[in-house]
Amino acid sequence: MNFEIPASVEEYRSRIAAFVAREILPLEADKASYDAHGNIALPLLDTLRAKARAAGLWCLQLKPETGGAGLGKMGMAVCYEEMNRSIFGPVVFNSAAPDDGNMMVLEALGTPDQKEKWLKPIVEGKVRSAFAMTEPHPGGGSDPSMIATRAEKRGDKYVVSGRKWFITGAEDASHFILIARTSDDPKQGLSALMFHRDQPGWSIKRRIEIMGPEEHGGHCELEFDGLEIPVENMLAGEGRGMKVTQVRLGPARLTHCMRWLGLSKRCVEIARAYASERYGFGVRLADRESIQLKLGDLAMRIEIGRLLVMKAAWELDGGGFARKEVSMAKVQVANVLHDAADVAIQINGARGYSKDTVLEWIYRYARQARLVDGADEVHKMVLNRSLNEEGSGFWRWNVEGEA
Ligand SMILES: Cc1cc2nc3c(=O)[nH]c(=O)nc-3n(C[C@H](O)[C@H](O)[C@H](O)COP(=O)(O)OP(=O)(O)OC[C@H]3O[C@@H](n4cnc5c(N)ncnc54)[C@H](O)[C@@H]3O)c2cc1C
Repeated sequence: MNFEIPASVEEYRSRIAAFVAREILPLEADKASYDAHGNIALPLLDTLRAKARAAGLWCLQLKPETGGAGLGKMGMAVCYEEMNRSIFGPVVFNSAAPDDGNMMVLEALGTPDQKEKWLKPIVEGKVRSAFAMTEPHPGGGSDPSMIATRAEKRGDKYVVSGRKWFITGAEDASHFILIARTSDDPKQGLSALMFHRDQPGWSIKRRIEIMGPEEHGGHCELEFDGLEIPVENMLAGEGRGMKVTQVRLGPARLTHCMRWLGLSKRCVEIARAYASERYGFGVRLADRESIQLKLGDLAMRIEIGRLLVMKAAWELDGGGFARKEVSMAKVQVANVLHDAADVAIQINGARGYSKDTVLEWIYRYARQARLVDGADEVHKMVLNRSLNEEGSGFWRWNVEGEA
Protein backbone atom coordinates (compact mmCIF):
# COMPACT_ATOMS: atom_id res chain seq x y z
CA MET A 1 0.00 0.00 0.00
CA ASN A 2 1.26 3.41 -0.91
CA PHE A 3 -0.37 6.60 0.33
CA GLU A 4 1.92 8.96 -1.59
CA ILE A 5 0.89 10.98 -4.62
CA PRO A 6 3.13 11.63 -7.64
CA ALA A 7 5.01 14.94 -7.71
CA SER A 8 3.24 15.80 -11.00
CA VAL A 9 -0.17 15.57 -9.28
CA GLU A 10 1.08 17.68 -6.37
CA GLU A 11 2.20 20.27 -8.89
CA TYR A 12 -1.30 20.45 -10.40
CA ARG A 13 -2.82 20.58 -6.91
CA SER A 14 -0.70 23.50 -5.81
CA ARG A 15 -1.33 25.42 -9.04
CA ILE A 16 -5.08 24.85 -8.67
CA ALA A 17 -4.93 25.96 -5.02
CA ALA A 18 -3.15 29.18 -6.03
CA PHE A 19 -5.61 29.82 -8.89
CA VAL A 20 -8.63 29.28 -6.62
CA ALA A 21 -7.21 31.57 -3.91
CA ARG A 22 -6.21 34.30 -6.34
CA GLU A 23 -8.93 34.27 -9.02
CA ILE A 24 -12.05 32.62 -7.60
CA LEU A 25 -12.39 32.91 -3.81
CA PRO A 26 -12.48 36.74 -3.78
CA LEU A 27 -15.54 36.66 -6.08
CA GLU A 28 -17.74 34.78 -3.62
CA ALA A 29 -18.34 37.82 -1.44
CA ASP A 30 -19.58 39.99 -4.33
CA LYS A 31 -23.31 39.70 -5.16
CA ALA A 32 -22.53 40.69 -8.77
CA SER A 33 -20.64 37.40 -9.20
CA TYR A 34 -23.88 35.38 -8.96
CA ASP A 35 -26.56 34.57 -11.55
CA ALA A 36 -30.26 34.45 -10.66
CA HIS A 37 -29.95 30.86 -9.40
CA GLY A 38 -27.01 31.24 -7.03
CA ASN A 39 -24.26 30.04 -9.39
CA ILE A 40 -21.42 32.02 -10.91
CA ALA A 41 -22.64 34.56 -13.51
CA LEU A 42 -21.92 33.32 -17.04
CA PRO A 43 -19.90 36.32 -18.34
CA LEU A 44 -17.62 36.04 -15.31
CA LEU A 45 -17.37 32.29 -15.81
CA ASP A 46 -16.29 32.78 -19.43
CA THR A 47 -13.47 35.09 -18.32
CA LEU A 48 -12.28 32.68 -15.63
CA ARG A 49 -12.47 29.69 -17.96
CA ALA A 50 -10.23 31.49 -20.45
CA LYS A 51 -7.74 32.11 -17.64
CA ALA A 52 -7.86 28.48 -16.47
CA ARG A 53 -7.23 27.27 -20.03
CA ALA A 54 -4.35 29.69 -20.46
CA ALA A 55 -2.89 28.39 -17.18
CA GLY A 56 -3.07 24.78 -18.44
CA LEU A 57 -5.67 23.84 -15.84
CA TRP A 58 -8.45 22.72 -18.16
CA CYS A 59 -10.22 19.34 -18.39
CA LEU A 60 -7.37 17.71 -16.48
CA GLN A 61 -9.50 14.59 -16.02
CA LEU A 62 -9.42 13.66 -19.72
CA LYS A 63 -6.72 11.81 -21.64
CA PRO A 64 -4.10 13.95 -23.41
CA GLU A 65 -5.46 12.88 -26.84
CA THR A 66 -8.88 14.23 -25.77
CA GLY A 67 -7.45 17.54 -24.60
CA GLY A 68 -6.77 16.74 -20.94
CA ALA A 69 -3.82 15.91 -18.70
CA GLY A 70 -4.54 12.21 -18.10
CA LEU A 71 -4.66 12.71 -14.33
CA GLY A 72 -6.40 9.41 -13.65
CA LYS A 73 -8.99 9.08 -10.90
CA MET A 74 -6.44 9.28 -8.07
CA GLY A 75 -5.01 12.50 -9.43
CA MET A 76 -8.52 13.82 -9.89
CA ALA A 77 -9.32 13.07 -6.25
CA VAL A 78 -6.46 15.34 -5.22
CA CYS A 79 -7.25 18.12 -7.69
CA TYR A 80 -11.07 18.17 -7.52
CA GLU A 81 -10.97 18.55 -3.75
CA GLU A 82 -8.75 21.59 -4.21
CA MET A 83 -10.99 23.08 -6.92
CA ASN A 84 -14.05 22.96 -4.68
CA ARG A 85 -12.47 24.99 -1.91
CA SER A 86 -14.57 27.60 -3.70
CA ILE A 87 -18.25 27.03 -4.45
CA PHE A 88 -17.50 28.31 -7.99
CA GLY A 89 -14.35 26.23 -8.51
CA PRO A 90 -15.04 23.04 -10.49
CA VAL A 91 -17.03 24.64 -13.34
CA VAL A 92 -14.15 27.07 -13.98
CA PHE A 93 -11.84 24.12 -14.75
CA ASN A 94 -14.56 22.25 -16.75
CA SER A 95 -14.67 19.65 -14.00
CA ALA A 96 -18.24 20.13 -12.81
CA ALA A 97 -21.28 17.90 -13.18
CA PRO A 98 -22.90 17.10 -15.51
CA ASP A 99 -20.36 17.94 -18.26
CA ASP A 100 -17.60 16.16 -16.32
CA GLY A 101 -19.41 12.79 -16.27
CA ASN A 102 -20.71 13.21 -19.82
CA MET A 103 -17.23 13.90 -21.18
CA MET A 104 -15.78 10.90 -19.37
CA VAL A 105 -18.44 8.48 -20.65
CA LEU A 106 -18.17 9.79 -24.22
CA GLU A 107 -14.39 9.48 -24.01
CA ALA A 108 -14.70 5.90 -22.75
CA LEU A 109 -17.46 4.61 -25.04
CA GLY A 110 -17.87 6.92 -28.05
CA THR A 111 -16.75 5.99 -31.56
CA PRO A 112 -14.18 8.34 -33.15
CA ASP A 113 -17.00 10.05 -35.11
CA GLN A 114 -19.17 10.38 -31.99
CA LYS A 115 -16.28 11.87 -30.05
CA GLU A 116 -15.67 14.42 -32.78
CA LYS A 117 -19.33 15.43 -32.94
CA TRP A 118 -20.58 15.11 -29.36
CA LEU A 119 -17.52 15.23 -27.08
CA LYS A 120 -15.11 17.73 -28.65
CA PRO A 121 -17.41 20.79 -28.40
CA ILE A 122 -17.93 20.07 -24.65
CA VAL A 123 -14.18 19.71 -24.10
CA GLU A 124 -13.64 22.99 -25.89
CA GLY A 125 -16.23 24.66 -23.66
CA LYS A 126 -18.34 25.61 -26.70
CA VAL A 127 -21.47 23.74 -25.57
CA ARG A 128 -22.87 22.27 -22.37
CA SER A 129 -24.42 18.84 -21.95
CA ALA A 130 -27.02 16.93 -19.95
CA PHE A 131 -27.66 13.32 -18.96
CA ALA A 132 -31.36 12.41 -19.01
CA MET A 133 -32.29 9.29 -17.09
CA THR A 134 -34.61 9.95 -14.12
CA GLU A 135 -38.36 9.98 -14.71
CA PRO A 136 -41.36 11.10 -12.66
CA HIS A 137 -43.62 8.43 -11.14
CA PRO A 138 -44.45 5.81 -12.38
CA GLY A 139 -41.20 5.84 -14.40
CA GLY A 140 -37.65 5.02 -13.35
CA GLY A 141 -35.85 6.80 -10.50
CA SER A 142 -33.80 4.78 -8.01
CA ASP A 143 -34.82 1.68 -9.94
CA PRO A 144 -33.75 2.03 -13.60
CA SER A 145 -35.67 -1.12 -14.57
CA MET A 146 -38.80 1.07 -14.32
CA ILE A 147 -37.65 3.43 -17.09
CA ALA A 148 -40.67 4.01 -19.32
CA THR A 149 -39.42 6.49 -21.95
CA ARG A 150 -39.40 4.53 -25.20
CA ALA A 151 -37.15 4.77 -28.24
CA GLU A 152 -38.85 2.79 -30.97
CA LYS A 153 -36.78 1.74 -33.97
CA ARG A 154 -38.24 2.84 -37.30
CA GLY A 155 -35.88 2.24 -40.23
CA ASP A 156 -32.60 4.02 -39.58
CA LYS A 157 -33.85 6.07 -36.64
CA TYR A 158 -35.35 5.79 -33.18
CA VAL A 159 -38.53 7.69 -32.31
CA VAL A 160 -38.70 8.78 -28.68
CA SER A 161 -41.74 9.34 -26.45
CA GLY A 162 -41.89 9.82 -22.69
CA ARG A 163 -40.85 12.12 -19.84
CA LYS A 164 -37.74 12.85 -17.80
CA TRP A 165 -37.21 15.15 -14.85
CA PHE A 166 -34.50 16.73 -12.69
CA ILE A 167 -32.26 16.82 -15.75
CA THR A 168 -29.38 19.03 -14.65
CA GLY A 169 -28.30 21.72 -17.06
CA ALA A 170 -31.07 21.02 -19.59
CA GLU A 171 -32.06 24.64 -20.12
CA ASP A 172 -28.52 25.59 -21.29
CA ALA A 173 -27.40 22.25 -22.75
CA SER A 174 -26.94 21.53 -26.46
CA HIS A 175 -25.81 17.90 -26.24
CA PHE A 176 -28.02 15.37 -24.45
CA ILE A 177 -27.41 11.73 -23.56
CA LEU A 178 -30.78 10.06 -23.14
CA ILE A 179 -31.44 6.70 -21.49
CA ALA A 180 -34.54 5.13 -23.06
CA ARG A 181 -36.21 1.76 -23.42
CA THR A 182 -35.60 0.02 -26.75
CA SER A 183 -37.08 -3.35 -25.69
CA ASP A 184 -38.69 -5.07 -22.72
CA ASP A 185 -35.70 -7.35 -22.16
CA PRO A 186 -35.05 -7.17 -18.38
CA LYS A 187 -31.24 -6.96 -18.79
CA GLN A 188 -30.76 -5.36 -22.22
CA GLY A 189 -33.89 -3.26 -22.56
CA LEU A 190 -32.25 0.15 -22.18
CA SER A 191 -30.12 2.11 -24.64
CA ALA A 192 -28.23 5.43 -24.60
CA LEU A 193 -28.93 7.89 -27.41
CA MET A 194 -27.56 11.33 -28.15
CA PHE A 195 -29.53 14.26 -29.46
CA HIS A 196 -29.04 17.98 -30.03
CA ARG A 197 -31.25 20.60 -28.42
CA ASP A 198 -32.28 22.01 -31.86
CA GLN A 199 -33.90 18.76 -32.97
CA PRO A 200 -37.73 18.87 -33.00
CA GLY A 201 -39.93 16.42 -31.08
CA TRP A 202 -39.05 17.31 -27.50
CA SER A 203 -39.49 20.25 -25.13
CA ILE A 204 -38.66 21.54 -21.68
CA LYS A 205 -41.89 21.60 -19.70
CA ARG A 206 -40.47 23.50 -16.74
CA ARG A 207 -37.34 24.38 -14.81
CA ILE A 208 -38.01 22.77 -11.42
CA GLU A 209 -37.41 25.13 -8.51
CA ILE A 210 -35.20 23.54 -5.87
CA MET A 211 -34.06 24.43 -2.34
CA GLY A 212 -30.39 24.85 -3.24
CA PRO A 213 -28.30 26.84 -5.71
CA GLU A 214 -28.54 25.51 -9.25
CA GLU A 215 -26.09 24.34 -11.87
CA HIS A 216 -26.24 26.44 -15.04
CA GLY A 217 -29.34 25.39 -16.98
CA GLY A 218 -31.16 24.27 -13.83
CA HIS A 219 -32.95 20.99 -13.23
CA CYS A 220 -35.65 20.50 -15.83
CA GLU A 221 -38.62 18.36 -16.71
CA LEU A 222 -38.56 17.20 -20.34
CA GLU A 223 -41.24 15.78 -22.61
CA PHE A 224 -40.49 13.67 -25.68
CA ASP A 225 -43.12 13.47 -28.35
CA GLY A 226 -41.68 12.04 -31.57
CA LEU A 227 -38.01 13.10 -31.28
CA GLU A 228 -36.17 11.26 -34.07
CA ILE A 229 -32.61 10.09 -33.35
CA PRO A 230 -30.52 8.54 -36.16
CA VAL A 231 -29.08 5.09 -35.32
CA GLU A 232 -25.52 6.42 -35.55
CA ASN A 233 -26.23 8.54 -32.47
CA MET A 234 -26.59 5.49 -30.25
CA LEU A 235 -23.80 5.14 -27.68
CA ALA A 236 -22.25 1.66 -27.19
CA GLY A 237 -24.95 -0.21 -29.14
CA GLU A 238 -28.60 -1.15 -28.66
CA GLY A 239 -29.43 -2.71 -25.31
CA ARG A 240 -26.22 -1.38 -23.68
CA GLY A 241 -27.90 1.45 -21.78
CA MET A 242 -27.24 -0.10 -18.37
CA LYS A 243 -23.57 -0.50 -19.27
CA VAL A 244 -23.41 3.18 -20.29
CA THR A 245 -25.11 4.09 -17.03
CA GLN A 246 -22.60 2.10 -14.99
CA VAL A 247 -19.63 3.52 -16.86
CA ARG A 248 -20.98 7.04 -16.40
CA LEU A 249 -22.43 6.96 -12.91
CA GLY A 250 -19.67 5.05 -11.06
CA PRO A 251 -16.92 7.60 -11.76
CA ALA A 252 -19.39 10.52 -11.73
CA ARG A 253 -20.54 9.62 -8.21
CA LEU A 254 -16.94 9.50 -7.13
CA THR A 255 -16.13 12.87 -8.67
CA HIS A 256 -19.08 14.30 -6.73
CA CYS A 257 -17.41 12.96 -3.58
CA MET A 258 -14.04 14.50 -4.54
CA ARG A 259 -15.66 17.90 -4.93
CA TRP A 260 -17.83 17.54 -1.80
CA LEU A 261 -14.72 16.85 0.26
CA GLY A 262 -13.37 20.20 -0.88
CA LEU A 263 -16.58 21.89 0.25
CA SER A 264 -16.49 20.00 3.56
CA LYS A 265 -12.94 21.20 4.20
CA ARG A 266 -14.03 24.75 3.39
CA CYS A 267 -16.75 24.49 6.05
CA VAL A 268 -14.13 23.46 8.60
CA GLU A 269 -11.87 26.30 7.43
CA ILE A 270 -14.60 28.92 8.00
CA ALA A 271 -15.57 27.40 11.34
CA ARG A 272 -11.96 27.36 12.56
CA ALA A 273 -11.38 30.96 11.52
CA TYR A 274 -14.37 32.18 13.53
CA ALA A 275 -13.65 29.92 16.53
CA SER A 276 -10.08 31.19 16.68
CA GLU A 277 -11.12 34.83 17.13
CA ARG A 278 -14.49 34.70 18.90
CA TYR A 279 -14.67 34.96 22.69
CA GLY A 280 -17.61 34.35 25.04
CA PHE A 281 -17.79 33.97 28.81
CA GLY A 282 -14.10 34.82 28.91
CA VAL A 283 -13.03 31.87 26.76
CA ARG A 284 -12.05 31.70 23.09
CA LEU A 285 -14.38 29.33 21.19
CA ALA A 286 -11.40 27.39 19.80
CA ASP A 287 -10.24 26.71 23.37
CA ARG A 288 -13.49 25.03 24.39
CA GLU A 289 -13.31 21.26 24.36
CA SER A 290 -16.87 20.99 23.03
CA ILE A 291 -15.83 22.97 19.94
CA GLN A 292 -12.57 21.01 19.60
CA LEU A 293 -14.52 17.73 19.64
CA LYS A 294 -16.84 18.94 16.89
CA LEU A 295 -13.93 19.99 14.66
CA GLY A 296 -11.84 16.92 15.47
CA ASP A 297 -14.80 14.70 14.61
CA LEU A 298 -15.29 16.44 11.26
CA ALA A 299 -11.58 16.22 10.46
CA MET A 300 -11.69 12.48 11.12
CA ARG A 301 -14.84 11.89 9.06
CA ILE A 302 -13.50 13.94 6.15
CA GLU A 303 -10.34 11.81 6.22
CA ILE A 304 -12.42 8.60 6.24
CA GLY A 305 -14.21 9.95 3.16
CA ARG A 306 -10.89 10.75 1.48
CA LEU A 307 -9.55 7.25 2.11
CA LEU A 308 -12.72 5.67 0.68
CA VAL A 309 -12.57 7.96 -2.35
CA MET A 310 -8.89 7.14 -2.90
CA LYS A 311 -9.49 3.41 -2.61
CA ALA A 312 -12.31 3.61 -5.16
CA ALA A 313 -10.14 5.81 -7.43
CA TRP A 314 -7.28 3.33 -7.18
CA GLU A 315 -9.60 0.48 -8.13
CA LEU A 316 -11.04 2.42 -11.10
CA ASP A 317 -7.54 3.37 -12.29
CA GLY A 318 -6.71 -0.35 -12.22
CA GLY A 319 -9.62 -1.14 -14.55
CA GLY A 320 -12.11 -2.28 -11.89
CA PHE A 321 -15.65 -1.01 -11.31
CA ALA A 322 -15.19 -0.24 -7.59
CA ARG A 323 -18.94 -0.71 -7.03
CA LYS A 324 -18.69 -1.24 -3.28
CA GLU A 325 -16.04 1.41 -2.78
CA VAL A 326 -17.99 4.01 -4.76
CA SER A 327 -21.17 3.26 -2.81
CA MET A 328 -19.38 3.53 0.53
CA ALA A 329 -17.64 6.75 -0.47
CA LYS A 330 -20.89 8.25 -1.76
CA VAL A 331 -22.81 7.61 1.47
CA GLN A 332 -19.93 8.68 3.72
CA VAL A 333 -19.03 11.89 1.91
CA ALA A 334 -22.61 13.03 1.24
CA ASN A 335 -23.34 12.80 4.96
CA VAL A 336 -20.05 14.43 6.00
CA LEU A 337 -20.76 17.35 3.69
CA HIS A 338 -24.17 17.79 5.22
CA ASP A 339 -22.84 17.64 8.77
CA ALA A 340 -19.81 19.83 8.03
CA ALA A 341 -22.08 22.63 6.81
CA ASP A 342 -24.39 22.17 9.79
CA VAL A 343 -21.61 22.17 12.40
CA ALA A 344 -19.85 25.12 10.78
CA ILE A 345 -23.07 27.15 10.82
CA GLN A 346 -23.55 26.29 14.51
CA ILE A 347 -20.02 27.37 15.40
CA ASN A 348 -20.48 30.64 13.49
CA GLY A 349 -23.69 31.46 15.36
CA ALA A 350 -25.98 33.97 13.63
CA ARG A 351 -23.21 34.75 11.16
CA GLY A 352 -23.41 31.14 9.95
CA TYR A 353 -27.08 31.57 9.09
CA SER A 354 -26.37 34.76 7.13
CA LYS A 355 -25.09 35.22 3.60
CA ASP A 356 -21.88 36.79 4.94
CA THR A 357 -20.19 33.42 4.43
CA VAL A 358 -20.82 30.63 1.88
CA LEU A 359 -21.94 28.25 4.64
CA GLU A 360 -25.66 28.74 4.01
CA TRP A 361 -25.05 28.18 0.25
CA ILE A 362 -23.22 24.94 1.02
CA TYR A 363 -25.89 23.87 3.52
CA ARG A 364 -28.70 24.26 0.98
CA TYR A 365 -26.63 22.57 -1.70
CA ALA A 366 -25.57 19.70 0.58
CA ARG A 367 -29.06 18.29 1.06
CA GLN A 368 -29.16 17.00 -2.51
CA ALA A 369 -25.96 15.00 -1.97
CA ARG A 370 -27.84 12.29 -0.09
CA LEU A 371 -30.32 11.91 -2.99
CA VAL A 372 -28.55 12.42 -6.31
CA ASP A 373 -26.80 9.58 -8.10
CA GLY A 374 -28.39 7.07 -5.74
CA ALA A 375 -30.02 7.80 -2.40
CA ASP A 376 -28.17 6.64 0.74
CA GLU A 377 -30.61 3.76 1.19
CA VAL A 378 -30.05 2.45 -2.34
CA HIS A 379 -26.27 2.40 -1.90
CA LYS A 380 -26.64 0.60 1.44
CA MET A 381 -28.98 -1.92 -0.19
CA VAL A 382 -26.34 -2.53 -2.88
CA LEU A 383 -23.68 -2.94 -0.19
CA ASN A 384 -25.81 -5.47 1.64
CA ARG A 385 -26.26 -7.35 -1.64
CA SER A 386 -22.46 -7.59 -1.93
CA LEU A 387 -22.24 -8.72 1.68
CA ASN A 388 -24.74 -11.50 0.96
CA GLU A 389 -22.79 -12.58 -2.11
CA GLU A 390 -19.28 -12.35 -0.66
CA GLY A 391 -19.74 -12.98 3.06
CA SER A 392 -16.52 -12.14 4.90
CA GLY A 393 -14.83 -11.78 1.47
CA PHE A 394 -16.48 -8.34 1.44
CA TRP A 395 -13.48 -7.08 3.43
CA ARG A 396 -10.80 -9.09 1.66
CA TRP A 397 -7.54 -7.27 0.83
CA ASN A 398 -6.32 -7.53 -2.74
CA VAL A 399 -3.01 -9.40 -2.79
CA GLU A 400 -0.06 -8.16 -4.86
CA GLY A 401 0.48 -10.10 -8.07
CA GLU A 402 -3.00 -11.67 -8.01
CA ALA A 403 -5.08 -11.24 -11.17
C1 LIG B 1 -30.39 18.37 -7.69
C2 LIG B 1 -30.66 17.12 -8.46
C3 LIG B 1 -30.03 16.91 -9.69
C4 LIG B 1 -30.30 15.77 -10.44
N1 LIG B 1 -29.74 15.63 -11.69
C5 LIG B 1 -30.11 14.58 -12.47
C6 LIG B 1 -29.65 14.47 -13.83
O1 LIG B 1 -28.89 15.32 -14.33
N2 LIG B 1 -30.05 13.42 -14.58
C7 LIG B 1 -30.88 12.45 -14.08
O2 LIG B 1 -31.21 11.53 -14.81
N3 LIG B 1 -31.33 12.51 -12.80
C8 LIG B 1 -30.98 13.56 -11.98
N4 LIG B 1 -31.45 13.66 -10.70
C9 LIG B 1 -32.32 12.61 -10.18
C10 LIG B 1 -31.64 11.73 -9.12
O3 LIG B 1 -30.62 10.95 -9.68
C11 LIG B 1 -32.76 10.90 -8.49
O4 LIG B 1 -33.49 11.81 -7.68
C12 LIG B 1 -32.28 9.73 -7.65
O5 LIG B 1 -31.74 8.74 -8.45
C13 LIG B 1 -33.44 9.13 -6.83
O6 LIG B 1 -34.53 8.83 -7.66
P1 LIG B 1 -35.99 9.39 -7.28
O7 LIG B 1 -35.90 10.85 -7.03
O8 LIG B 1 -36.94 8.95 -8.35
O9 LIG B 1 -36.34 8.71 -5.92
P2 LIG B 1 -37.29 7.44 -5.68
O10 LIG B 1 -36.80 6.30 -6.51
O11 LIG B 1 -38.69 7.87 -5.86
O12 LIG B 1 -37.00 7.14 -4.15
C14 LIG B 1 -37.47 8.02 -3.13
C15 LIG B 1 -36.79 7.71 -1.81
O13 LIG B 1 -37.14 6.36 -1.44
C16 LIG B 1 -36.09 5.77 -0.71
N5 LIG B 1 -35.69 4.52 -1.40
C17 LIG B 1 -35.60 4.28 -2.72
N6 LIG B 1 -35.16 3.03 -2.96
C18 LIG B 1 -34.98 2.47 -1.75
C19 LIG B 1 -34.53 1.20 -1.30
N7 LIG B 1 -34.16 0.26 -2.17
N8 LIG B 1 -34.47 0.96 0.04
C20 LIG B 1 -34.83 1.92 0.95
N9 LIG B 1 -35.26 3.14 0.58
C21 LIG B 1 -35.33 3.42 -0.74
C22 LIG B 1 -34.94 6.78 -0.68
O14 LIG B 1 -34.96 7.49 0.55
C23 LIG B 1 -35.29 7.72 -1.82
O15 LIG B 1 -34.74 9.03 -1.61
C24 LIG B 1 -31.19 14.78 -9.92
C25 LIG B 1 -31.79 14.98 -8.66
C26 LIG B 1 -31.55 16.15 -7.94
C27 LIG B 1 -32.24 16.33 -6.63
